[in-house]
Amino acid sequence: MAVEFSLIDRIRARCRGCGDVVLGIGDDCALLQPPAGQQLAVSTDTLVAGVHFPQDTAPADLGWKALAVNLSDLAAMAAQPAWCTLALTLPGGDAGWLEAFLDGFLGLAAQHGIALVGGDTTRGPLTVSVTVMGFVPAGQALRRDAARVGDEIWVTGWLGDAAAALRQWQAGVDVAAELRARLDRPTPRVAAGLALRGLAGASIDISDGLLADLGHVLKASRVGAELQLAALPTSAALLAAYPQDDARWPLQLAGGDDYELCFTADIGRRDAIVAALSAIGVEARVIGRIVPGDGVRLFCADGSRWQAPATGYQHFAEGDA
Ligand code: ADP
Ligand code: MG
Repeated sequence: MAVEFSLIDRIRARCRGCGDVVLGIGDDCALLQPPAGQQLAVSTDTLVAGVHFPQDTAPADLGWKALAVNLSDLAAMAAQPAWCTLALTLPGGDAGWLEAFLDGFLGLAAQHGIALVGGDTTRGPLTVSVTVMGFVPAGQALRRDAARVGDEIWVTGWLGDAAAALRQWQAGVDVAAELRARLDRPTPRVAAGLALRGLAGASIDISDGLLADLGHVLKASRVGAELQLAALPTSAALLAAYPQDDARWPLQLAGGDDYELCFTADIGRRDAIVAALSAIGVEARVIGRIVPGDGVRLFCADGSRWQAPATGYQHFAEGDA
């Protein structure tokens, strides 16, 4: 008990409320003042040691990632981050571990102006659960059900880096630093989400792999998709680690942990999207288009359908309907 309270005191000492936090950490509830005319976007994600992150993840990286994966959900809906809560389950009461965790968590929070307003602290196997809240003007959220036949399909950033890092780590080989950084410290595309208000149709963040997450959009919108594999955005580090298409494409299509945005847009919006995203320094590219029907069809540069290699990747067959 005493340990729990001293940990909470440490968290409280590092949190300053801002104007819309009427009452932050310290009472039974936080009191928050949402702005008039805005809808509240709310999302929760939990990270469990050994399931969602390697056991050797540094506490500062874990703090960063726990918030980043939640900010990514706000980004996908084009919501402006406002408040968050943090439920921490810790095996011990290690103050040094907590301070390092807070370095990562609060460092990213400061970048996005999101205030930590409450939470819970308990003892048990290491688990971090974060709830984020953000604002979006009524009717302007980007949803999964808004893709239309003929729309282009876009992705921000690069796909497959995090999955490659995890694969290398699991195989016990040296993990390239650029790839490991994308696994441990993903960049939530908050600014991109905000820039896409009024431009994108449907949107989703890629947490479980492009095919799985695009699949949610297709299902919700009752449409299908065709993707050009040669258009998948590929970092130099990933290309160096996995030069062969058959080894790299599965990581980019089904690997997960990318936290990029996948969105659809009318072809007529192409120039406006390029302008809006380049103004905030975010790269994005068209990887395919929405077609009638359902499921995803994958094409090679020569126009042939691509057959996934038989080895591994049980997620893969699911998306390649
Ligand atoms: P209660 O027993 O009434 O739920 P707690 O003792 O769990 O209250 O928490 C006391 C205060 O500290 C509350 O305001 C709670 O929101 C906050 N708090 C507890 N754990 C955390 C945490 N990990 N991060 C942020 N705030 C926390
Ligand atoms: Mg409690």
